[in-house]
Amino acid sequence: MKSSIVSIGTELLFGQIVNTNAVYLSQQLNELGFDVHHHFSVGDNAQRLKDILEYALERSDLIITTGGLGPTQDDLTKETIAQLMGKELEFHEPSYQRLSSFFKKRNREMSKNNLKQVYLPQGCIVLQNDNGTAPGFIIENNKKIVISLPGPPKEMRNMFENYAKSYLQTKSSHVIYSKVLRFFGIGESALETELLDLISSQVNPTIATYAKEGEVSIRVSAKAKDENEAKQMIYPVVQEIKSRLNPYLYSENNEELVEVVAKKLLEKNITISLAESCTGGLIASELTSISGISKSFDRGIVTYSNISKVEQLGVNPSTLEKFGAVSEETAKEMVIGLKQKSKSDLCLAITGIAGPDGGSPEKPVGLIYISMLYRDHLQCNSYLFTGTRERIRKQAVLSALNMIRNILS
Ligand code: ATP
Repeated sequence: MKSSIVSIGTELLFGQIVNTNAVYLSQQLNELGFDVHHHFSVGDNAQRLKDILEYALERSDLIITTGGLGPTQDDLTKETIAQLMGKELEFHEPSYQRLSSFFKKRNREMSKNNLKQVYLPQGCIVLQNDNGTAPGFIIENNKKIVISLPGPPKEMRNMFENYAKSYLQTKSSHVIYSKVLRFFGIGESALETELLDLISSQVNPTIATYAKEGEVSIRVSAKAKDENEAKQMIYPVVQEIKSRLNPYLYSENNEELVEVVAKKLLEKNITISLAESCTGGLIASELTSISGISKSFDRGIVTYSNISKVEQLGVNPSTLEKFGAVSEETAKEMVIGLKQKSKSDLCLAITGIAGPDGGSPEKPVGLIYISMLYRDHLQCNSYLFTGTRERIRKQAVLSALNMIRNILS
């Protein structure tokens, strides 16, 4: 079934909000087996909205709109859709009752404007709004379907998930099921080269690669009559990809690297401490974004200046003088000092030049040392990253997490 998404709201056109609703709806429609052919965005203007809806209706069997269902004068979605589908608006008693109790519970007076929201197109399926006041609706006419959802993402998602999805499942003859594999330490083109034969012969399942700041993902998607059949189709393809790229694979379930690392630390009951220079606490920030990590994470110390490396971690001033703050020797002394202080099972220290200033021919911008002491095993890796300060720091964080993942695997 061909489908289109029409996002309504002048804020979208001014660039004041990001159209996250269209992203969410596209993902959902794809998973349900609908082909999304168009995304349209239009302001709160009756004529332009009518034009877009007519255009979309000519080209799609299903249209989902979001936004413009509110109580104010510029909310025109419902009126315009009803007119196009040849329907009158009529009073909907159950929505009126819901709206009255919504206001009563909040001790607020219902304004006359709000009443506008309980007039809905004749013969529509009403979609209840559990998080707000505007009901949504589904209209079917001449083999065309229009589903209208509110704009606020919380209201829209709840309504879609709880009320619209089950309706759409009855209209779709198949599902699309995907599995996302995530890799670190291999570039997108190298990864594609490894899979060239699979990619060029793909039909169903399909294989798509995506690159993101130092990481690559592969989405394997199958179109089938149900999820079980799709999973069976995907399985051999995933096994083949894994057999070729296993050393780089860190998640088969679309998890972030930090989630995988945190899970391993917690599963194995390993305590961890960090000493960060050029990343200024970014690794600690990543780790502490995971709920429950307090069982594992002891401390993160930001030792940015030379003196802090001496005072906090016991780095020898002569090491700093002889080899510099960005050196294997300093990185190792940092991690040894951290171990003495924290007694954590796993200690990691990082020092480097994030740029854009501070580089030299011997020590260019992007040079990073990461040292790790796991029980008695001391290791120090050096990296040379390129790009902006932000990119270099991001790469350093991911590399540090990957070192932890590797040692715990
Ligand atoms: P309300 O009953 O709250 O007025 P509505 O259906 O009229 O709902 P809009 O007024 O169009 O919705 O949008 C309300 C808010 O929802 C916007 O200010 C914006 O924050 C958010 N929103 C609207 N459309 C989108 C979208 N496509 N993507 C992300 N957020 C959106």
